[in-house]
Amino acid sequence: MQTKTLADPLSRHGIRKVRTICGYCGVGCAVDVLARDNRIVAIHPAWDGPANQGALCIKGQFAYDYVHHPDRLTHPLVRGRDGRFHRVSWDEALDAAAEGFLRVQAKYGRHAIYGVASGRTPSEANYLMQKFIRVAFGTNHIDNCSRA
Ligand code: SF4
Repeated sequence: MQTKTLADPLSRHGIRKVRTICGYCGVGCAVDVLARDNRIVAIHPAWDGPANQGALCIKGQFAYDYVHHPDRLTHPLVRGRDGRFHRVSWDEALDAAAEGFLRVQAKYGRHAIYGVASGRTPSEANYLMQKFIRVAFGTNHIDNCSRA
């Protein structure tokens, strides 16, 4: 005997559900992203997410419009001599950042360097940031924006 099942209501409307992790902060809430035509249409909390167990804060639940915003940065930019930002490769951007750090350190000393970690990063990335600032520049000037 053949069993009849209801068609998945999401796929009937062309919506795909993708399990991922919210990228807003280091808590790491599990979310189900609902997308149609490669665009996010909703975010649902994952009931079985170990960190959130079906709950999301207001950012994780609703603030996803940045993903498709036309002003979103999608490649590195470096300010040129003309004062404008120019698209560059990641290697060029990292070289420019390194040159900037070294120029500031040479001119003003090691304590002129100050590292601020993002509240969106996990503990491991914050650890690496403080290690980099302490070892590479010899200063303890570190902080995290979550403290503000
Ligand atoms: S607490 Fe909010 S911002 Fe942080 S991971 Fe969870 S839903 Fe995202």
